[in-house]
Amino acid sequence: MDRPMAQGTSSYLDHNATAPVRSEVVDAMVATLADCGNPSSVHAAGRRARKAMEAARAALAEALGAAPAEIVFTSGGTEANHLALHGTGREGVLISAIEHDSVLQARPGAVIVPVTSNGVIDLAALERLLSDGPAVVSVMAANNETGIIQPVGEVVRLARRYGALVHCDAVQLFGKQPFDRATLDADLISLSAHKIGGPQGVGALVIRSGTPFGAVRQGGGQERGVRPGTENVAGIVGFGVAAGLATAELGTFAELAAWRDELERRLISIDPAARAFGAEVPRLANTLCVSMPGVKAETQVMALDLAGVAVSAGAACSSGKVRRSRVLEAMGVDPETAESAIRISLGRTTIAADLDRLVEAWSALRLRTRQASRPSARSAA
Ligand code: PLP
Repeated sequence: MDRPMAQGTSSYLDHNATAPVRSEVVDAMVATLADCGNPSSVHAAGRRARKAMEAARAALAEALGAAPAEIVFTSGGTEANHLALHGTGREGVLISAIEHDSVLQARPGAVIVPVTSNGVIDLAALERLLSDGPAVVSVMAANNETGIIQPVGEVVRLARRYGALVHCDAVQLFGKQPFDRATLDADLISLSAHKIGGPQGVGALVIRSGTPFGAVRQGGGQERGVRPGTENVAGIVGFGVAAGLATAELGTFAELAAWRDELERRLISIDPAARAFGAEVPRLANTLCVSMPGVKAETQVMALDLAGVAVSAGAACSSGKVRRSRVLEAMGVDPETAESAIRISLGRTTIAADLDRLVEAWSALRLRTRQASRPSARSAA
């Protein structure tokens, strides 16, 4: 696989947290920032800004197979999720147990739909809950910790039967897998630019035409009145460029699965008790969630960081703290194992040496922790 050289001496294997910004994105954003204009202004400068923004909307729409008018730009995936879960005005909300915090915390009173031990939404349980009345169902396209892909098409078919709307957080899937509107046919879809080589702080909510939907904040007519506030024009331009490039390179991204599988084999050969989560179901090509039994994720993340390798704990929350993976717990994984899981996520800039460095550091840590836990080592201490 032809991959660019890694930057610096560290190995960045945390692409699901954020992906390196593409140089084409930087160029397009710098050019936009250099040109002053508010897209709501009617003069020439404003019209230029609007033109740049609408070109980005059209590029994103093409990558999604949606109409430009269906796209509402936001400040990221978190805002898109919040907007989706409040904008329909529906009271009943069903949320899968493995959703990102930005979904779960947007509607704290929501009914939680369980997942199976494979990490896939339990469709039978969903159907039982749907029969309670018209609702909004929120299910993600692919999980950020495990990469496990959800049967969104089946959820949509089921939801329609019961008059429910479907929101899909596609932040992790878009730009990594073909995005097929025929199967991913949700009413509301959340996206974020920084997971695909675009800038941080920009995202979008795709609202299927005809979906009953209103603003959740007032104060301006931007984005057809649904999301007031001057748009982040340079960020949106960067998002459009990133979306086009990521979509054109989906084939190369898919090749990461072979690297990920090889990495998984190497780690499990170091510690046969290690477990890869989601290996038995479809998952994103770049994601490996793996446990090192008996060693807390936090310890692994720190040891790998000292060796120049960036990964994250199963769930690195926004405060920067490491906590036990809620996603793995929802899959029925015992708490101790869930505490020892890390997420390794590969991407466009990953090279073979990054994986070698990770394996070497993980192996050294495994050896150190085994030596430290031997009775003789403990009594000598
Ligand atoms: N949804 C998922 C599945 C995510 O992985 C993330 C980011 O980690 C978000 C939503 C939030 O996106 P943003 O960082 O753009 O607010």
